[in-house]
Formats: sequence, structure tokens, C-alpha cells
Amino acid sequence: MAADLTCPTNVLESALQQLDDAAALVDLHPDVHAKLRKPRRTLTVSIPTRMDDGRLEVFTGIRVQHNMDRGPCKGGMRYHPCVTVDEVTALAMWMTWKCAVVNIPYGGGKGGVICEPMQMSERELENMTRRFASELVEIIGPEQDIPAPDVNTDERVMGWLMDTYSMQKGYSVPAVVTGKPIAIGGSLGRAKATGRGIVFVTREALRTRGIPVEGARVVVQGFGKVGGAFAELVEELGAKVIAVSDVTGGLFNANGLPIGELSAYTKQNRFIEGFEGGEPITNEELLTLECEVLVPAALENVLTVANAPHVSAKLVVEGANGPTTPEAGRILIDRGIFLVPDILANAGGVTVSYFEWCQGLQMLFWTEEEVNRRLEDVMVRAYHEVHGRSCDLQTDMRNAAMAVAVERVAEAIMARGIYP
Ligand code: GLU
Repeated sequence: MAADLTCPTNVLESALQQLDDAAALVDLHPDVHAKLRKPRRTLTVSIPTRMDDGRLEVFTGIRVQHNMDRGPCKGGMRYHPCVTVDEVTALAMWMTWKCAVVNIPYGGGKGGVICEPMQMSERELENMTRRFASELVEIIGPEQDIPAPDVNTDERVMGWLMDTYSMQKGYSVPAVVTGKPIAIGGSLGRAKATGRGIVFVTREALRTRGIPVEGARVVVQGFGKVGGAFAELVEELGAKVIAVSDVTGGLFNANGLPIGELSAYTKQNRFIEGFEGGEPITNEELLTLECEVLVPAALENVLTVANAPHVSAKLVVEGANGPTTPEAGRILIDRGIFLVPDILANAGGVTVSYFEWCQGLQMLFWTEEEVNRRLEDVMVRAYHEVHGRSCDLQTDMRNAAMAVAVERVAEAIMARGIYP
């Protein structure tokens, strides 16, 4: 099944607009504002890759390091046909804010390769990843930039990245990536951390709005690493997942889909298509279903001016990065829908990445309970800091999260000064 090839556009414009809005809100120093509008460094490389049929395919790989003032750059690597320099730049900028919102000592980075991983064999993916990693050796590392999984990359890809980097250095460097297999220093709890973090903020947001979690109807767009884990964990909390979708379409069941069975089905069949526990619906129908919580957990620009007027959720919790265009966000907020922004909602992944990095640097590993407990502390504290700020500033949660983040980054920039 090929991915949906309607590529998101103008994502960088959205990210810059959000920064400009936050700058006005917190009266950001113009020098700091100017610095933050540009990434610190952008690297584009060609990745010659031997394919299974003997051909040489030359892919394009990108790594953007947006900001390093609070610590090394941190962020995922995505493999997708829609990857562009602008998209990766926006995603890197969002990582800077995300790390600042949850107050972990990192700046933001992101990477990607323009490719169609669904149509590549494991060997082709490995060849491509290893060549990309060797092109990145000079600019990544535990002290400067630490990649992690993102769309269509997983612990296997992180293992190849870590191994290639380590082979070039001549010794093992587990802390160069996070989201790696447990056998080489990965953290317990990392695989489901983004989904678990979304559950914590959804629970807090429902409480804020006086809506019981028990029986809350939840709709999830995207049933991958993030949406799939979120659906499982939110069901455990007593909510009812009435619809989910992936690139093959959606499934609806007013009584709640059996998420455990659906997850087992997708492990076998990769996609949700053909599962018999619900009625088929389109992705567009899914986005406008009546529910308490809508979680877009796939790609950018899913909620737009076209569908935002018809969204019938009480809460929109952004599991993906940038799923709502700025105009759609304004429509949702004007319609009284409570929007929990991506940089807060999906920060659980990078938070446990930080835990993985800390454990790796100390060679001292925590139990899964310890990881999950610390994740809950971070997410709940961040949610209430942002919510408190939105009450003080009388603004929505996105502006408030941006205000908290931009102020933290600005404080670091001012404390360091501009070199030379
Ligand atoms: N790709 C994830 C994100 O967008 C995780 C990044 C990380 O763990 O560094 O937040």
C-alpha cells in the first residue's frame, strides 16, 4: 500500500507564524526573535544506495539543527516521499519548543530522507541508513545532535545508525541515538512513550474541562507507533476508542473498537484494512465524527479550513507534529474546541528519549515503572504550567505553550550572549 501522496505544504510558514505570534505575546527581544527564525545549520546530502536489483539509487537526506542554546539538538529522522528542507526545518523548530515546554536540556533538530520506505526491502533500508549515518558523523553525537525515530523509522533504524556511527569512531557510542533496541542501551518504556504522554495530557485536559475519562469517546487518526500506543493506553483508562484510521482508511464502531485485537491484526497485516470489528469509514468522515477527543496522530496539515468547521470533538489533542493549520486552529478555538498543541501533547517521546540518553551516559538503567512514573511527572507538570500560562495570558493553549517555550529558549540565549 503506497502512502497518501498529498504532501503537506507551507508547514514552515505555519511554524514561523507561531513563533511570530509568541514573540508578540511575550515581547521577545528582536535579536532573539531574528536568531530563532533561522535554523543554526542545515545539511543536505546525497545517499547513493545499492538496491536489490543491482541498481544504484541516489536518495536525498537532510538534517536540520534549529537551536542548541539549551543543550544538544534532539529530534527524529523521518523516511517519507514528502520530506523537504522546509518541512524538516519546521519540524526541527518544533523540537526546540517541545524540549523547552517539558524543560529537558535540549535544543531542536530533525532529519529525513526522501524515499518510499513501504516499497523498500530491509536490506535497501539498511544500506540507505548506513550511508546516511556516515554522512552525518561530523554533525551528530551525544553532545551535539541525537537522532531518534519518527515517521517510518524505528528501533531497527536506530540500531543501524548507532552501529555505523560507532564503527566510524572505533568504539560503541550508544548515546548517539535514542529509541534504539533495549539490547544496545534502549530505554524500557520508550516505544510507547509518545502515546503514553498523550494519554497523560488528554486525562489532564478532560479533567480541566470537567469531562469524565470513563466512557469518553475517542477518535484517532493514524494507527502507527503513536496512534496505536495511544489507543491501547487510553482504552486501559476507561475511554472508548470509537474510530481509528491509517493510510488504508478508517474503521468505526459506536460501542468502541477492540483495540487489543486490532493491534494484533495490524502486527500481522500491517494496515487496519480488512479488520472486521468495525464499519469502514473514510479519513475525512473520521475527522468530523462526534466525540469527546479527536487525536490526529499521523502527518501535518490534516485539520484545515475545509474540515475544521465540521470537527465535532470537544477536545483536539495533537498527537502528530503540526496536524492543524494556523487558520484551522483559529476556527477550532473560536468554536470553543479545546486544543492541546503538539509541542505539549506529543512531548512524551522526546522526554523518554532524554531518560534513555541519561541512562546511557551513566550506564545505569531504570525499571519501566520508574520511566513511566517520571514521564507522568514531566507531562502533568508541563500540562499545568501551560494551562496556568493560558489562564494568566488569557490565550489558547498553543499560544501559551509557545510562550513558555520561547521564553525558556530566550532566557538561555540571553544568558549565553551572542558569540563573538
Ligand atoms: N520524533 C519524535 C518527536 O517528534 C521523538 C523525537 C526524539 O525522541 O528525539 O517528538
